[in-house]
Amino acid sequence: MQADFRGSTALVTGGTRGIGRALVDAFADAGANVAFTYRSSSDTAAALVDTLDEQGTEALSLQGDVADLETAQAHVDAVLDRWGTLDVLVNNAGITRDGLMLRMTEDDWDDVIDTNLKGAFNFCKAAYMPMMRQQSGTIVNISSVVGTTGNAGQTNYAASKAGIVGFSKSLAKELGSRNVTVNVVAPGYVQTDMTDELDADTHESILDAVPLDRLAEPDEIADAVLFLASPAADYITGHVLHVNGGLSM
Ligand code: NDP
Repeated sequence: MQADFRGSTALVTGGTRGIGRALVDAFADAGANVAFTYRSSSDTAAALVDTLDEQGTEALSLQGDVADLETAQAHVDAVLDRWGTLDVLVNNAGITRDGLMLRMTEDDWDDVIDTNLKGAFNFCKAAYMPMMRQQSGTIVNISSVVGTTGNAGQTNYAASKAGIVGFSKSLAKELGSRNVTVNVVAPGYVQTDMTDELDADTHESILDAVPLDRLAEPDEIADAVLFLASPAADYITGHVLHVNGGLSM
């Protein structure tokens, strides 16, 4: 994605691995100042900041649990203290705790909803006033194809990802008059640690169902996010951009 984000500040939750890491790299390559959050990968986060520094990107790593509202507020405040603006927020951090409903525990449910859905709420709430005051900003929330299609063994995850869609469309309606856009990217299956956990049979059946016959690379999801965050998408809000190789049409 050839977008110019020089002078802009992007905050990516869950930036140490997978799609989040691809997002950090993409925004850095496009010239943005980049802040990213993570939960536990401190060494990876420190190494990533060093790499970005060497490349000439101003970078900030922020440790904490996205499920905690005070943490989200502190992270947004840290970005504002450092750069004065928050132009792009990407709510990417997410987890799975898969299992048939029969065996799913209350903790499995709560952990996934708290991280994937409440996490996005927390960061949007923290960014709400600053972006309103700026009269500019763009938020991209990461959903999933299973938020639309459903998936046996993922009632918690699918609920969180479907929730992201209704949440984002509602927020888009609240913030539109302030020149703040809110959109969703819904990936299909992407080659990351999350999908590395899938067994060979599941992997095979996914490939059978994907017309493009492969998983996505993380940077292909980042491309879609950068498009929605770029000036080329200034008149797009409340949109769900499916990036799934044709898995669901
Ligand atoms: P990964 O498991 O590879 O990386 C997850 C990232 O989120 C890590 O940086 C991790 O930090 C961070 N994270 C997880 N939980 C928390 C938390 N509670 N607080 C703060 N940070 C947290 O995930 P993916 O790259 O595969 O997925 C990224 C997003 O894309 C998720 O929302 C996922 O649901 C969605 N998605 C992924 C698909 C896929 O096929 N991979 C398909 C569709 C959607 P740390 O390293 O410290 O643990």
